[in-house]
This record gives sequence, C-alpha cells and structure tokens, in this order.
Amino acid sequence: MPRYFIWTIGCQMNKAESQQIAGYLDSAGCQAATSFPHADLVVLNTCVVRQSAENKVLGTLSLLKGLKNDHPNLQILVTGCLVNSHTQELQRRFPHVDLLFKPGDYPELIAWGQKQGIPIEQKLLRYPRNDAGMAPSPCALIPIIQGCDNFCSYCIVPYRRGREVSRPVEEIVCEVEELVRRGIKEVTLVGQNVDSYGHDLPGHPDLADLLNELSGIDDLARIRFLTNHPKDISLKLIEAMASLNKVCEHLELPVQSGDNDILKAMRREYTVERYKELVHIIRHKVPQISLSTDIIVGFPGETEEQFEHSLSLVQELRFDVIHVAAYSPRPGTIAWREYQDDIPAEVKKERLNKIEEVQATIASEINSQLQDKEVEILGEGRKGGKWFGRTRSNKLVFFEDAGDWLGQLARIQIEKTSPWSLGARLKNN
Ligand code: SF4
Repeated sequence: MPRYFIWTIGCQMNKAESQQIAGYLDSAGCQAATSFPHADLVVLNTCVVRQSAENKVLGTLSLLKGLKNDHPNLQILVTGCLVNSHTQELQRRFPHVDLLFKPGDYPELIAWGQKQGIPIEQKLLRYPRNDAGMAPSPCALIPIIQGCDNFCSYCIVPYRRGREVSRPVEEIVCEVEELVRRGIKEVTLVGQNVDSYGHDLPGHPDLADLLNELSGIDDLARIRFLTNHPKDISLKLIEAMASLNKVCEHLELPVQSGDNDILKAMRREYTVERYKELVHIIRHKVPQISLSTDIIVGFPGETEEQFEHSLSLVQELRFDVIHVAAYSPRPGTIAWREYQDDIPAEVKKERLNKIEEVQATIASEINSQLQDKEVEILGEGRKGGKWFGRTRSNKLVFFEDAGDWLGQLARIQIEKTSPWSLGARLKNN
C-alpha cells in the first residue's frame, strides 16, 4: 500500500477533514509518511479564503509537479476550497493532479481508491494526530455541519462548500463514543457556523442539545466548538456553556469590524452595539470565558475613522486572541462584484500591524494575570523536550516532566507568561 502525506492549510474544518482522510487511508493499510519526498501518495487539503493562502497552494502544486516529473508514480490528490464545481477547468490547469474531490466528498475518494486497488473502508474513522502530523493526539476535531448559508460579502466559503448540511446527533455521539474508547479526551466540534447546527435536521436539535448529549459520555473530559456567528449565537447555548462542566470556557466569536457601515457592507447582519451586548451577556454568564475574534482590515472603502472604530473596539473588549487579516478580493464573491479593492496594500499592512501591536499588549496583560495560578491542562504532546497542552481557556502551556502526560489531565502552576504561550511547573504527583 502507498505511503501517504497530507498537506493541510486553512481552517479547523480542513484540519478535521484531513484527520478523516488519514483515517480512510489508514483503513486501507496505507502508512503515513513524514514529508512529500517520502510519500507515494500526497493529498493537498487547500484553502483559498485569502490570496496568501491561495499563493501557498499554487506554490505547493508547482513543487509537486517537479516531484512528479522525477517520480511519475507519485499520486497527487487535491481537495479543500480550491476545488470548485469546475473540476474540468482545474484538471486542465493542473494535469499532474490525479484526483480533485470537493471538500467532504469521501465517496469520490473511496471510488478512486478502489480503482487504484486501495481498499478504503467506508465506515467513519478518524485518527487524530498532533500538528506535526505523526504523533497521536488526545484531541479530535469533529465536523458537525458542512457548508454555510450566510454569504458574507467577502467570503468564498459558501461557493465552495455549498449550503449547510448538519450531521445527525446520533451519528456524532456514536463517533465520539468510539473515539473515546480509543483514548480521545477532548473533542472540538467544528463548522463554518456551528450556531446553525441542526436547523435542517428532523426535530431541529441545536448545538446546546448536542453539547448536552456529548456531556453524558463518561471518559470524555473536554468539549469545545467553533466557529460561532454573532447573529446566530443563542442564550440557550451560552447557558449550556455555563452549566455543562465538560464544555470549556472558550469561544470564537468573529466580529470582523468595529464599524456599523462596514459590517453592513460585509453583510454580517449585526451591529457593533449588538456584538458588545453579546460579549457582556457571555462574560456575565461564563465569567472565566476566554474570547477569540477575527478582524478584517482594509475592506473596500474602509476609512481611517472606520478602522479606528475597529481599533477602539479591540481596546474596549480586550479579547484573549485576535486573528487579523487584510482584505483580499475573492473572485465570485459579492464584495468582489460590487466594490473596488481600493485600500492600498501598505495601508492594509499598517492597519493590520496596529491591531496586532495593540493586541500583543492586551494579551500580555491578560495572560500575566495567570502568573502563579494553578490550572488544569490536557497533555497533547512534546515539543523541544517539553510537554505541551492547553488550559480550558485554550491557552498553550509548556512544562517539563519525565512522566507520560499524553492524554492526561495535569494540575500545573503558571511560572512564565507571554502574549502567546505560558510556561508552568507540574503540581500533581
Ligand atoms: S459565516 Fe460568513 S465568513 Fe463565515 S463561512 Fe459563512 S459566509 Fe464565510
């Protein structure tokens, strides 16, 4: 059986799908390789949500072209958001690719495998690995809803991943039970908008109902979920977070802009005032909450004053983490059709740097409050001779110990803080 290497870029949904593809290939007896040159079969799980990501994908595709010239038996599979409905056109552009399949289109992968004599099992399997791709991880990403119905004006996702389709509650519970039997301790439920979960299912269960069901699985220690949408997040969900012990105190709630006119042009369907109110409710109900957000700078027409509104929102709300991106037009989207990409690249860069600078100070202040505190982490693996894991609030922590902490909950005391990670000393044992 071929040795495979999966290259993944983009969001958690892509990472979840790569875990699933690894599971399928493992089921056929294929072995994971450590890099492209060691593989006979490579899978590129792509992202085109921003120009920079698309450039990396194109660069990797051309690198593989060279590899295939030297090793004509190398098989190249491409999935993720690069793959649209016009696969024939993509096939013409990239003739060295053996299979293009849309995100989540596993029947296509299985059928291709069968033709190649790779007997992929049809049943759902997932083999979580840590970011290095090889070591087993006690944390699994579980897709619960595919696609997105929102059509935010800048976003390509609904065009590539299609409309929302939720997985039935029983199917998800069954999968998580199986994973827990195999040693998984933490699951992150992923979807482009997890707050839409279930509206297309009989009886309309929602995310809070799903969290309730999963909380009943005995050896599952932690549950997370992402990404939320400020227009859809419900009070019922916030209350479920507050009351269910296994649900971690961490929420990804992208605001995108601190200016109401820009939010309107982005078609986000909430106002800055509504967003602030939500944050207030969440912090009141779940006082330990750690909040992450996404911000786009340099959206078409964004004036200096409108950008300042985003900056003051950041200063006012004090997020734990911000993912900030410069707007890049995505062909086919509403913003690409209707607006000029009129903010110069250097202005976008300046705005991005300003947000990152302010955020580094805020994150450093927030994290320094953890100094000397005792917290729980789940051991996820080793890096640079140290164990690493995350707190319930999703902060990355490193500590030294000779024991085996993979998949174990450890009590640790924070000794060192920075905006990005923490250093700690083991407390228990
Ligand atoms: S909610 Fe908006 S930004 Fe998120 S995937 Fe859907 S369209 Fe894109």
